[in-house]
Amino acid sequence: MARICPKCGRSSDEIEFIGSLCKDCYVETVGIARIPEEISFTYCKYCGRYKYQGGWNEPSDTIEDTLIDYLVLVLSRKAKPSREINEVWINSVNLDRPFMGPGLYKALVKIGGRHNEITVAEERVITVRVNMAVCPLCTNKLTKRGYEAIVQIRGSSGKLSEDLKKRIDDFLEEELAGVLRESIIDFEEKKEGFDLLINDSSAARMIASKIKSAFMGKTIETYKLIGRKPDGSRKGRLTISVRLPDISPGNILKIGDRLYLFLEVSRGGNPILVDLQTGTEITANPEFLWKKGFTHYESGMEYKKLMLISRGNSITFLDASTGYSQVLDFPRDRVHVYVEDFEPGRVFKVLIVRGRAYVLGYEDNE
Ligand SMILES: [Zn+2]
Ligand SMILES: [Zn+2]
Repeated sequence: MARICPKCGRSSDEIEFIGSLCKDCYVETVGIARIPEEISFTYCKYCGRYKYQGGWNEPSDTIEDTLIDYLVLVLSRKAKPSREINEVWINSVNLDRPFMGPGLYKALVKIGGRHNEITVAEERVITVRVNMAVCPLCTNKLTKRGYEAIVQIRGSSGKLSEDLKKRIDDFLEEELAGVLRESIIDFEEKKEGFDLLINDSSAARMIASKIKSAFMGKTIETYKLIGRKPDGSRKGRLTISVRLPDISPGNILKIGDRLYLFLEVSRGGNPILVDLQTGTEITANPEFLWKKGFTHYESGMEYKKLMLISRGNSITFLDASTGYSQVLDFPRDRVHVYVEDFEPGRVFKVLIVRGRAYVLGYEDNE
């Protein structure tokens, strides 16, 4: 027998029923769910983390996305299905105006629900109160408190060259995982390099070891007692000094009592060197530099600007620095080429040691 809706008079042949009402009148009078009328949202002014259940949580790409995700989360958790409804969910949440920081907003909430096989939908408007604060992590950064460790980045020559500093900056920016980067509270310029203040000792160790292996460094750890915690336990500060060789490709190094040409750093972080006594190329361990000690070797060796004339069994150059009047001829196996485009007519930066020519770069602007 067909049922008749007491509110609108439609029969159960025309429309599905929930309890004694048609589904439209059920949604209109009873509603699908009880949801909070007002929700507060607090986010950090500096990093965008938001407060939830007593902690601070990672944000989405924008504050507005974070807010919407948060509203969906809170509404999903707090929605209480009305008596005939088996389950409810949040379809979408939209703010009534563009997000402009702290203040009051209205949000349109689209709720979905199910009564046995019947699905229902409802729209509701709630108030959203947006607050701005500074999270504890950012407070630490601002006050430079709360750091457990210092990573000191230092150059071997007592100074860090601008070039090396730039490369380390890029490395920290691009190669560190988010959590590690976040653990850096502050960055302090020093005469001999720079310091990273880090909120956690194990993060400091990981950062130091990553820089060490990317830049052929060595590390020295020291631990200093700086007092006691309120519970009486020892409070210390870890300092990790990362020493990096201040060398660039093309540099001649005196390691022990031999001369080497530094070509580049291998993918695995090892220096690739040419033993200038024998002309052999070696991939060394960074330890090799540090154990024997190295210095920059400057005197007596000059780079020449040579134009390649011909390549055959012997290789012929003209010396560009003497007006192309001097011819230099080398057997082919005494010329070591470290450029891609070794073509006649081009001028190269060449180092000549013990009858061997090392072609290290270009001196023309092609
Ligand atoms: Zn009805
Ligand atoms: Zn923050």
